[in-house]
Amino acid sequence: MAGKDYYDTLGVAKTATADEIKKAFRKQARKHHPDAGGSEEKFKEINEAYEVLSDAEKRSQYDQFGQYFGGNVPPGAGPQGAGWPGGGGAGGYTYQNVDLGDLGGLFGDLFSGGMGGSARSSAHRGADLQYDVTLSFEEALHGVSTKVELKRNETCAVCHGTGAKPGTSPTTCPTCKGSGHVTQGQGLFGVSRPCQRCGGSGKIIENPCATCKGKGSVVKLKPITVNVPPGATDGGRLRFKGKGEPGTGGGPAGDLYVVTHVKKHPYYSRDGADVLMDLPVTIAEAVLGTEITIPTPDGQKVKLKIAEGTSDGKVYKIPGKGAPKLKGKGAGDLRVRVHIAIPKKLSREQKELLQKFDAARNDDVREHIG
Ligand SMILES: [Zn+2]
Ligand SMILES: [Zn+2]
Repeated sequence: MAGKDYYDTLGVAKTATADEIKKAFRKQARKHHPDAGGSEEKFKEINEAYEVLSDAEKRSQYDQFGQYFGGNVPPGAGPQGAGWPGGGGAGGYTYQNVDLGDLGGLFGDLFSGGMGGSARSSAHRGADLQYDVTLSFEEALHGVSTKVELKRNETCAVCHGTGAKPGTSPTTCPTCKGSGHVTQGQGLFGVSRPCQRCGGSGKIIENPCATCKGKGSVVKLKPITVNVPPGATDGGRLRFKGKGEPGTGGGPAGDLYVVTHVKKHPYYSRDGADVLMDLPVTIAEAVLGTEITIPTPDGQKVKLKIAEGTSDGKVYKIPGKGAPKLKGKGAGDLRVRVHIAIPKKLSREQKELLQKFDAARNDDVREHIG
């Protein structure tokens, strides 16, 4: 970075005011904008120069040391501990990304509303996609590899994304001369609007590609295999980086989000990594205690000891027998909730036994109420 003359790049004097720098930058940026047929290299330089000279702190550092160091001021140089927030990495200032979106407010008012079309030639990240999959309880628990068909916009293979019929190429729009926008008014306060004729692309396709009808992209069903890891939850969202729509102009692909839906199980339910189940017991089992063999979600069986005098709703926890944890290691617990099944219909004999039992008891369950 050393040795670059940012003042020279923008064509202003070292004593230029902030306004003069801004004006000069607009003039240069307009002249060298890649969408207007300018050199991207030059455009980068202009942006870099403006980025530094438009910021009082960066400019003062540049004036003092002949270069801008980003956040890394060399030891002993400059005001100690001042710091430059958000500076470039080691090796000085680096221009991050030539993307219209990154130029923010300045181009926002310069090319108001024209971003969509005029940005076509720069790098753009592909769109994120979302896909829903429905899993059985077991699939969610143990993980599953499933094929999904994604609808994605892909670059047209016939015209390679130009939108023009093979053998022909798009021509520069005569109305906007390829810039994608037309300016009404003069100088700084000119209002720029997207060019109507070319829709802001700066190009006119006289012979559209028959396959994509000039759009440059086609919607394709793309089968992909999604590996759902063990422990997926109902309504959970898995992110597959770079599996969304492809980027344009060398931009990165978007991400694929897979939302998992889990079907109900006859007796298990989920609470995060914990698996819950209701365990019906008879009155006698609850009162006298017992041992019950129950199936666990991993397909095994365990013996659960029901203590003497177990109340309805008591929860027994079987550690590590729940669902695998999506993040981190191990598994949740299996929580077994005791449910005392009260018989609805009793035989005469059962009724008599119960009456005898009740007559023989020696406690008052309502002692505490008045
Ligand atoms: Zn095409
Ligand atoms: Zn045009």
